[in-house]
Amino acid sequence: MTGRGLIRRRIDVSGIVQGVGFRPYVYGLAQQLALAGWVENNPSGVRIEIEGPAELVDDFVEQLPVGAPPLAAIEELTVSPAVVEAAPGFRILESRRSGPTAALVAPDVAPCSACLREIRTPQDRRFGYAFTNCTNCGPRYSIMTDIPYDRPNTTMSAFTLCRQCELEYGDPTDRRFHAQPVCCPACGPRLSITVDQAAASIRRGMIVAVKGVGGYHLTTLARDAAAVADLRGRKHREDKPFAIMVGDLRAAEQLCSVTEAEAGLLASPQRPIVLLPRRSDAAVAPTVAPFTTELGLMLPSSPLHQQLLDAVEEPIVCTSGNRSDEPIAFLDDDATNRLAPIADVFLSNDRPIRTRVDDSVYRVVDEQPYPIRRSRGFAPAPLMVPWPAARPVLALGADLKNTIAFHRGRHVFVSHHIGDLDDFATFRSFTDAIAHLGRLLDIEPAVAAFDLHPDYRSSRHGAELDDFDHVAVQHHHAHIASCLADAGRQGPVIGVAFDGLGYGDDGTFWGGEFLLADLVGYDRRAWFAPVPMPGGDQAARQPWRMAAVYLDALGEADRADLAVAARCPRWDDVLQLARTGTRSPLTSSVGRLFDAVASLLGVRDEVSYEGQAAIELEQIADRTETIGYRPVIDEADDRLLIRGDRFVADVVRDLRAGVPEPVIAARFHNGIADAVVATCEAIRDQTGTSTVALSGGVFLNRLVLTAAQRGLRQTGFEVLRHRQVPCNDGGISLGQAVIVAARDRAGERGAIG
Ligand code: ZN
Ligand code: ZN
Ligand code: FE
Repeated sequence: MTGRGLIRRRIDVSGIVQGVGFRPYVYGLAQQLALAGWVENNPSGVRIEIEGPAELVDDFVEQLPVGAPPLAAIEELTVSPAVVEAAPGFRILESRRSGPTAALVAPDVAPCSACLREIRTPQDRRFGYAFTNCTNCGPRYSIMTDIPYDRPNTTMSAFTLCRQCELEYGDPTDRRFHAQPVCCPACGPRLSITVDQAAASIRRGMIVAVKGVGGYHLTTLARDAAAVADLRGRKHREDKPFAIMVGDLRAAEQLCSVTEAEAGLLASPQRPIVLLPRRSDAAVAPTVAPFTTELGLMLPSSPLHQQLLDAVEEPIVCTSGNRSDEPIAFLDDDATNRLAPIADVFLSNDRPIRTRVDDSVYRVVDEQPYPIRRSRGFAPAPLMVPWPAARPVLALGADLKNTIAFHRGRHVFVSHHIGDLDDFATFRSFTDAIAHLGRLLDIEPAVAAFDLHPDYRSSRHGAELDDFDHVAVQHHHAHIASCLADAGRQGPVIGVAFDGLGYGDDGTFWGGEFLLADLVGYDRRAWFAPVPMPGGDQAARQPWRMAAVYLDALGEADRADLAVAARCPRWDDVLQLARTGTRSPLTSSVGRLFDAVASLLGVRDEVSYEGQAAIELEQIADRTETIGYRPVIDEADDRLLIRGDRFVADVVRDLRAGVPEPVIAARFHNGIADAVVATCEAIRDQTGTSTVALSGGVFLNRLVLTAAQRGLRQTGFEVLRHRQVPCNDGGISLGQAVIVAARDRAGERGAIG
């Protein structure tokens, strides 16, 4: 064979192309076109050299991205000429490691249909095998101990491949070629008890701890009120809804109404929990999700869960394996200790989990996914931003719903959900994530970004990192920047950041902000008129305190006709705190205003989880009510102050007039949305900016989100909202990361602020 008529091309592919069956796919395509050359994993992705007749090589280049395996995500594909070697055959070269690894870490994904078929086929050697996986599915991030992604660098390293598995692993034409977690009943992990035993226990009303992909779940029969009540008691979880796992989409539709977009998200390889409107005839114990008209459903996220659901034959509660606010158990000894008082039975196994990865939680808004918690199935796949970071950034997030992020080049790698850092075990997983994810991504950050709040654990940790530059980022600016980055934009926008609390640059607590912002800076144009927050953090746990404060602002706190004062014995003490300013920091938080109204309406005086009062207020709101309380906005210099107390005055007036609570709740929601629109219009008049970004945890409230969005669009605004990371504090790390990178590009100061 001579080089005549042959061409050779070098193809570099970046993106998620390792550990997802990309090389066998390339091999298959080359075989099919009878082309020569090789493929290898390298630090930046996959490199291919392909040689043959020009026409066929062109075909190869054209087909390559089209037929890529389902889990591959190609970001860039470059083709360059290479010198013809005239060597026959196509080979897959061994992984090698040198230089910086820009390769991406794949998330964990649910079983593919081919694997499910095998475990359901009696003649198959993997019949009934709970750890079946292939290059198209299975665990990834949760089992990775190091890079490159090869079996010795996973928690499967202790399991030696049997002869048959080895053949599959080494056969380029096999679906399991180089599938690192490949195994079978003869050589792989084993269950501690059988699926049938676990299923029988669940059917008898017991609580079963199930070791899943990223941690332990606690499961029990969803329609069994006694079992669910037991679980709540033992887990010390009062009201926060439990998620339900269903065997398939048909079972989901028996509990909830499910749109096509929602069904697509439920059945996606990421298998998130999706919040859905509950059907009135849903056979689910009321205590599964009290005080809400929704249910969080998910489809099985592993072959084990699928088998369990097939055996139980009805929906099960599937909630995180922990006690109240602790992190989810994922190490076996720890799970045995902590979950023993809760679970009657353990369905465990001997495949270690390296990294705890919680279930992701989504909603669908306007046919689009709207993340609430981005974790299993999604993390740590990167977000692409249009502008590169000049130096690698580590962003440490916020103290609640913590995530961290690494920014390198045009990628921002937002971590799995880490949680609330005031728990010591969670704080340990925070520091572990900084080290471990940094190592897997092979990033050595030069700068640490963290929240401006001096008392956040994440901030203190960041400030103490040696050999880093340190940048403190204002919380609500980070919210808006995360929304911008999520949309691939850099502003300027009118950023509406509504949340529970964040530390402001004036030392008060913000949470009802309108920032004229870009990625570099911000100018605080408008906010909710500050009120005292008596007792500080305690006010967030006891919404009635905010009711007291707002009534006091109206001169109504001492009136006896409002039930809330009578219900709350420490009413006068709290008023005293607020009036004297003792332990009463000022706040512009919209979250706290929602708390006040929820308490006034008798919805909730004390919460057992963050945001509960506002969530329940939204639940009772009458969807048919179109009136909204008229926002009152004061202007001073060119700053605007929205008067939260005027909303409360309207609430009180309607309460006294006997207007039903659901109608009042709706009018309040509509009024907040109207305040967003009116304030944005005023800022547009002042600044000419006509794009609005909606961020902060309050925008998980669907009524406020959709009403504000509708009103803004009707008045000519372009509206940006979150799609890839949550609007709550889970998105803060992304915002911090892109702000630091943008400041690097802009020099010290940008156009705004
Ligand atoms: Zn598979
Ligand atoms: Zn085997
Ligand atoms: Fe926040």
